[in-house]
Parts: sequence; C-alpha cells; structure tokens
Amino acid sequence: MLVLVELSEDKDLSKPAIQVLKTARKIADQIKSQLHTLLIGTDIDSKKMQDQLGLCGVDKVTIFSDKCLQSFNPDIYTRLFVKTINQIKPDYIFGVNSLFNQDLFPAASYHTGGGLVMDCTDIKIEGSTITVAKSMYSNKILSKIKFEEKHLPKLVTFRPNSLIPPEVQPKTTELITETFNTNDFPVKQKVREVVKSKGKEISLTEAPVIISGGRAMGNWDNYKILFETAEIIGAAVGASRAAVDSGYAPHSMQVGQTGKTVSPQLYIACGISGAIQHFAGMGSSRVIVAINKDPNAPIFKKCDYGIVDDLFKVVPVLKEELKRLLGKQAVTSK
Ligand SMILES: Cc1cc2nc3c(=O)[nH]c(=O)nc-3n(C[C@H](O)[C@H](O)[C@H](O)COP(=O)(O)OP(=O)(O)OC[C@H]3O[C@@H](n4cnc5c(N)ncnc54)[C@H](O)[C@@H]3O)c2cc1C
Repeated sequence: MLVLVELSEDKDLSKPAIQVLKTARKIADQIKSQLHTLLIGTDIDSKKMQDQLGLCGVDKVTIFSDKCLQSFNPDIYTRLFVKTINQIKPDYIFGVNSLFNQDLFPAASYHTGGGLVMDCTDIKIEGSTITVAKSMYSNKILSKIKFEEKHLPKLVTFRPNSLIPPEVQPKTTELITETFNTNDFPVKQKVREVVKSKGKEISLTEAPVIISGGRAMGNWDNYKILFETAEIIGAAVGASRAAVDSGYAPHSMQVGQTGKTVSPQLYIACGISGAIQHFAGMGSSRVIVAINKDPNAPIFKKCDYGIVDDLFKVVPVLKEELKRLLGKQAVTSK
C-alpha cells in the first residue's frame, strides 16, 4: 500500500494527510500489507518526516527532495510518482483529494492502467474487498464503488476532513532517499512564475471550519467581519457563486458545484439561500449553521442549527462571543 503525501507550507504533515495515513495503516494491517509513503518536494526535513510518519504507523518513506521540485510541475511529479509505483508495485494507492493529487492520480491511473476513484468520503474493507463511498449528482446520492480485481493498482483520493482517523501503533519508519536527473526524461512543461495570493490564508479545502458569505454580503468590504471572525476560530472564508458573480469575492473563495468542494467540521453560511449547487460543495460538512433573515430560506431545511436574523447583527455578536470564549489566542487550523 502506497500513500502519496503532500506537506503543508510549514513542511509538516497536514491534518487531511494524517487522516489518510492512519486510515491506510488500519487497512494495511487488515490486508497484512506494508504501508509505504512517497514525498516529493524541496528542502524536506527527512528526520522530522520520519518521526511524524512513524506516529502514523508508516513502515517506509521514499523521499525525492530537489530544488527543481520547488514549484509543482505535473510533468516531473507524475514521472517520479509513476517511477515509485513501478518500483513498489502497490495494490492500493491513496492520497488526499488535493489540487495536486487531482492532477497526479488520473495521470498515474493512465500510466499504470490502474482503477481510479476520486474524492471519496469513506472506505470499508470486507475480507480483501475494498468499497469506497463517494457522493454524486450534487450530493443527491451516495455511491458505493468496488474495484475490478484486474485493474491494479487501485487509486483512491479522499476528500479532506471526511475520514475519522483510527488509533494506530507508532512504527519506526525506514527512510529511502532517491535521486533523479531531469535529463533522464524529457520535461515538457516549465513553471515560469508562481503568483501567491496575499497574506497567509487557510486553505478552503483543508480548513476544519469555514465561514461563508453569500449575495447578502453586498460588497467585498463587508467580508471583513467574516475574516475577523475566521481569524478568531482558525477558519477559512468562503463565498457563494452569487457573491462571486456579483464581484464581491474572488472565484478562489467560491464553494459549490462550480467552485471548491469542502468538508469541514463546521460550516457557517451567512446570507446564503442554500441552493442545490451550493450544497453540492459543502453538503458533507459535519455541522452546518445558517444565518439568514428569511425563515423560509431553503438552507434551514438542511442545516443543523439556524439563526433567523440579519447577519450584520448576528456575526458581530458571534465574533465577540467567540473571542470571549476562546480568549485572545486565535485557534490555528493545525
Ligand atoms: C450550473 C450552475 C452551477 C452553479 N454553481 C454554484 C456554485 O458552485 N456555488 C454556489 O454557491 N452557487 C452556484 N450556483 C448558483 C446557485 O444556483 C445559487 O444561485 C447561488 O448559490 C445563490 O447564492 P446566494 O445564496 O448567495 O444568493 P441568494 O440565493 O440570492 O440568497 C441570498 C440569501 O441571503 C439572505 N439575506 C439577504 N440579506 C440578508 C441579511 N442581511 N442577513 C441574513 N440573510 C440575508 C436572503 O434571505 C437569501 O436567502 C450554480 C448555478 C448553476 C445553474
């Protein structure tokens, strides 16, 4: 069993990566397999990684660390991923359904002929048969998918925050450091420039808490109150398509069918009606709180807690109350 692991900006294992690793460890124990991980990047602290992966029960880690891997180049990353798959020959390959893996897993499936299911929210094993669950058609159905035995390896990506990680026994992780030369293979893509968004934002797709604003926000300046509240609870800020189309928020913040799919522990929807296309992107959130001044807004049929009032009255109170409860210390997402 192989897990392709991505690191956070601080070069630590991210929370979604730990969820996938511990789930993989449990399955590896059930099918009596080794758990191997692959890390591709630059300036990777191999000792720190060995320790962190050991706590997740990982047997071995292969590390490709090179300056040329600083920016994500799908061409080079795919080659290193496929090279490792061909060496290890795993039956199962898991990863977080991150933006990188949405590129790498289909490419690896193509190159290896393996079966692929992306963005799963659950996994079950009976005997040696693995069944994964994934929501489809804007969350209207939950499909359970089994792999055809003949298509090996079986590649699965998991939606961040959807797996509940089991307890695992720590292991001593064996380190394998690999080198490579880009002259050995033709590189067809070149990263010319990476433009980062301003400030240190919490990734929407990995955030444990999200506070989103819809059309009711009225303009970008009004999002300030959401960002201030988010900072206190370590949340990311999202938006509905109506807010994005109206020019209030950038598309990178859009949650929904044509935006990002998120699965936080807590989703706070402010001034969002609850259209099916918005739900397609956040319906699997563990707890949904809606703030809407219309008691008949559809979102109230789908949320766990609802507040019928003006968001511009409720959110400032919520912010102050959270600040009081949590003290001055902001909660981080790690
Ligand atoms: C193919 C397709 C793809 C789409 N993809 C997406 C997508 O990815 N994401 C997405 O979000 N939508 C998507 N949509 C659009 C979707 O159908 C809805 O139009 C959109 O989600 C509505 O956004 P909204 O809830 O912010 O706006 P509205 O539906 O206009 O709702 C605004 C809500 O705010 C409430 N309100 C107003 N003022 C206040 C206030 N002061 N305090 C509290 N509440 C207030 C109102 O009661 C209302 O319920 C898609 C549509 C199509 C057809």
